[in-house]
Order: sequence, then structure tokens, then C-alpha cells
Amino acid sequence: MRIDVLGVSFDNVTPDEAVQRALAMLEENRPHLAVTPNPEMIQRAEKDPEFSKVLADADLVLPDGIGVIYAAKILGRPLKGRVPGVDFASALMGKIAGTDKRLFLLGAKPGVAEEAAKRLTARYPGLNICGTHDGYFQDDAPVVEAIRASKADVVFVCLGFPRQEKWIAAHGAEAGAKLYIGLGGSLDVFAGKVDRAPEKMQKLGLEWLYRLYKEPSRIGRMAKLPLILVQALGARVKGK
Ligand code: UDP
Repeated sequence: MRIDVLGVSFDNVTPDEAVQRALAMLEENRPHLAVTPNPEMIQRAEKDPEFSKVLADADLVLPDGIGVIYAAKILGRPLKGRVPGVDFASALMGKIAGTDKRLFLLGAKPGVAEEAAKRLTARYPGLNICGTHDGYFQDDAPVVEAIRASKADVVFVCLGFPRQEKWIAAHGAEAGAKLYIGLGGSLDVFAGKVDRAPEKMQKLGLEWLYRLYKEPSRIGRMAKLPLILVQALGARVKGK
């Protein structure tokens, strides 16, 4: 069952259940899309019907960020908890390492996906990374062909939202993989270019605060977090 949070329907799953669903998708012969919306993405979806439809049609919609969890709680439809994209991707890599499943890394600045591949294969022995491509391309065709030729099963698509989700909807079937995951800035994290908040802060739901401390210029983007709580309260009061 999905839970609606201000127009985006989320799968109410634990991190373990999310990974089990992803593994099941790899056994089906069709492309699947997994997305990890945060408050900024919910607000974008409100104004962008194409993006909203891509999120609605996704096979797995995971709540990335404490703002989504609080909003769901305020709406009176609590979710089981956060499933941050980086954690979901990490758990999935742990499961497919040592199997015949192949992973392609798409996105971020030139060199970042390669560095991420190096570090990830060291962290997950037996992980089969079959290709990488940066996210600053103009022409889609060669990228689709690179994924196709790599025979990837899973593709981490890290082009920033909403481009990554729309790109997957437009090109996923042609590129031939079974599971595409929109993962924002995760390759920067995997490559060690951006560090995540200490675990204690993550557990307290303060990852956003750490990110703000590291990149104060994100203040405008992050103002969306309290804003969706106000929206959720408004919707609750109106009985939506
Ligand atoms: N990016 C990209 N191509 C572009 C624009 C952005 O590959 O044309 C990458 C960017 O380098 C970064 C990621 O997309 O690695 C977006 O990161 P951000 O931290 O903004 O995403 P979030 O995790 O907040 O959604």
C-alpha cells in the first residue's frame, strides 16, 4: 500500500523490504524505476506534471529525508521510516556483490563515477561494475548505447532531479537494464567527494543540518523542508 504525502505516493517499507523488492525486480524481464523523493522533489512535482507522473508510475518510491517522514506523521499517515537513497543503494550493492548482476554508474562530474567504481569494488568484493559515464552529456544516444552494450542489470542514475527520473522514463527501456535508481548526489558520496553526516546525526534525523553546515549555499533549497511541514499541517487541518 502506498501513502500519499502532498501528492507523491510513497511505498511504506523498511530499508530491508525495499532491497527485497529491488532484488525481485531484477528477476523480471522489464525495466523498473526506483525513486527517492525528498521535500524538494515533492514540491517540484506539484508544479511539474511530467515529473509528478514519472514519480507516480515508478515501481518503488522511497522516502529520502526526515522531512517526508515528519510530513507523513503530521498528515496522520505515518511511514515506517526513512530509506535514504545512499543507504538503499549500499544495501543493494551488498546483496548483488558476488552474483552475476551488473551495475552501471551514470552521472556526476567527469572522473567521479570512475572513482566511485574504484572505491565501491574495494568496499563490496565481487561487485560487478560493468561501466561508468559522467552526467554532463548533451547527446543521449551514446549513453544509452553504452548502458546497452554493458549489459547492465542495475543503473544508478545520478543527474540530479527531475532530470534523472525523466531521463530514466525516456530511455530506460531502450538501454535494456532491469532496474534504474535515481540517486542524486550519491556518486559524489561514494567517490568520497562529499561526506555524509556522522551516524549519530543521521539517527537523530539531522543529516540536513550537517549538509547545510558543509554547503551553506543550499539554504534556499533547504527552506523547502520546513515548508512542506507547514503544507502538511494545512492539508491535515483541511482534512485532506
Ligand atoms: N549532475 C549531473 N549532470 C548535470 C547536473 C548535475 O551529473 O547536468 C550531478 C551533479 O554532479 C551531482 C548530482 O547530479 O553529482 C546532483 O547532486 P545534488 O547533491 O544536487 O542532488 P541531491 O542528492 O540533492 O538530489
